[in-house]
Amino acid sequence: MARYMDAKCRLCRREGEKLYLKGSKCYSDKCAIERRPYAPGMHGQSRRPGRASDYGLQLREKQKVKRVYGLQEKQFRRYFYDADRMPGVTGLNLLHLLESRLDNIIYRMGLSTSRSEARQLVRHKHILLDGKVVNIPSCKVRVGTRITLNEKAQDHLRINAAVESSGQKGVAEWLDVDLQSKQGTFRELPARDQLDPGIHEQLIVELYSK
Ligand code: SF4
Repeated sequence: MARYMDAKCRLCRREGEKLYLKGSKCYSDKCAIERRPYAPGMHGQSRRPGRASDYGLQLREKQKVKRVYGLQEKQFRRYFYDADRMPGVTGLNLLHLLESRLDNIIYRMGLSTSRSEARQLVRHKHILLDGKVVNIPSCKVRVGTRITLNEKAQDHLRINAAVESSGQKGVAEWLDVDLQSKQGTFRELPARDQLDPGIHEQLIVELYSK
């Protein structure tokens, strides 16, 4: 599968806001967007923030959310089509599908400092769902599933560091998490007000509905 290999901080600078893609660096004064708060590239500093068209706003919102969850265009579009086929509000369905990804759940539990780090933990078979090893980061976790670590991962340095720094970003309210024993349960799907208020999912729905 295709992967984005360029510097992640460029993505934040392109979107003009912190997307929290680099773990603890994002909370430090080394954060690139705080040092260079303009778009990347040769003409980044000379670009004037003009009034974007409706299409421009929709496109940027889609790019931002896609980058936050570390997805490629094709995967993201597939999530949208699945959300559109589900009963209920398409925008919220889309967020629920994205939040139910295993890599996201690990990140929300505070067991990793970023979603890319969570993906690595899953690929390395450190994560168990209801006692069974799962090594697919995009796996959809169902409500009620118990998430634990394998024995080897209990003393994993990066997991310990993530748990220690989990106070910086907090743990999702819609998960039951015991950071002491590094395990938790997917209690319920989040309500909209428990998710990032900076995401305007309606713009993404409008973009893909054209
Ligand atoms: Fe974005 Fe984090 Fe890089 Fe800051 S340090 S620009 S928040 S990825």
